[in-house]
Amino acid sequence: MAQLSPQLKQATPVVATHGEGVYLYDEAGTRHLDFTAGIGVTSTGHCHPKVVEAAQRQVGNLIHGQYTTIMHKPLQQLTQKLGEVLPQGLDSLFFANSGSEAAEAALRLARQATGRPNIIVFQGGFHGRTVAAASMTTSGTKFKAGFSPLMPGVVVSPFPNPSMYRDLGWGQEQVTDFALKQLDLVLQTQSSPADTAAFMVEPVLGEGGYVPGNERFFAGLRERADKHGILLAIDEVQTGFGRTGKYWGLDHFRGEDSAVTPDIQMFAKGIASGFPISGIAARSEIMEKAWPGSQGGTYGANAVACAAALATLDVIAEENLVANADARGEQLRAALRRIAADYPHIVDVRGLGLMIGVEFADAHGQPDTATAAAVQKEAAKRGLLLLTCGPWTEVVRFIPALVVNEQQVDDAAEIFAGAV
Ligand code: PLP
Repeated sequence: MAQLSPQLKQATPVVATHGEGVYLYDEAGTRHLDFTAGIGVTSTGHCHPKVVEAAQRQVGNLIHGQYTTIMHKPLQQLTQKLGEVLPQGLDSLFFANSGSEAAEAALRLARQATGRPNIIVFQGGFHGRTVAAASMTTSGTKFKAGFSPLMPGVVVSPFPNPSMYRDLGWGQEQVTDFALKQLDLVLQTQSSPADTAAFMVEPVLGEGGYVPGNERFFAGLRERADKHGILLAIDEVQTGFGRTGKYWGLDHFRGEDSAVTPDIQMFAKGIASGFPISGIAARSEIMEKAWPGSQGGTYGANAVACAAALATLDVIAEENLVANADARGEQLRAALRRIAADYPHIVDVRGLGLMIGVEFADAHGQPDTATAAAVQKEAAKRGLLLLTCGPWTEVVRFIPALVVNEQQVDDAAEIFAGAV
């Protein structure tokens, strides 16, 4: 009898039969509060009626039309619609199927556009599991151990992550100073500007532990990118489409006057409520440097996925899901901080919008992977599905659908408190 490979071992015990909103149901009819959302994908909740309707309609019209062979209406419409929500200037779009492919596409484009070999990535970043994406990933050795040699040309610089420097008593200002000085050193000693195609960075570290960046850091990256002709590639795969309580994760850090805009932006996950579609956006003069045939594949911008994405973007706007993510995120962080106050092993509650991490440490301040795993397991037993993240998987993360309501947030916090 065939079985799933060990790499596909599930993080939760649920065998789902169907989903509705923030709930999943199993074969026994038990309801589970799903605060994993397919790792931040089902942004409008499971099976939102408008998304289901749009996908069903499209299935009856056209399922697939390979996008370098024919154009189809959902792709035309999605391109227009994304133009309304993307940062100004990012007017040329390329589509693929997964976040990893988007990261690969950004990497290839950055090299093609600059003719330079290196990519500088930031410690704790996650960009996916294909060989190129894994090469740019530094959020855990499990993503790259055992299949070297990886892609050359990746250089790592620190991300301003206060939790890594807690022992030193450093706050955000100091870690940001440190990160930018180290970046200058990297440009001086490891990857000269003439060899550096792009900085590749997430606005909020995802797999790396749900650590938000900050305005000064991104302004510093933009300044150095401008000075040296390096492209700023922002990975919004997990942070995009309202997840952080603003439309894009980087919107938190653009600054009042400083319009920190990416040169290349990746997107995926929350765009289509579960249908596989991803892409990159860039200024036309950059995108034009990628010649036909050098990017793309058979399935990119599948017609049904495009239709589901269009419906998803409509629902995000109509139901004010960005504002809801902001409000419900604040509510959840406040509740989690109250729980943390009684429990010394929780050393940090952080995040933006509905991308929230709770960090566990032992009595010596060391990452407490075992407790994070035990809490996740106990919460699942009590009907709340959660994931972990962080370099030691010492962080329990909350990433529910953006449609989550006040009561459901209270329920999740109560179950979590019981599990803790
Ligand atoms: N980039 C970021 C920031 C991610 O969070 C992820 C997935 O979690 C990826 C890229 C890779 O996406 P995928 O798993 O769809 O390949």
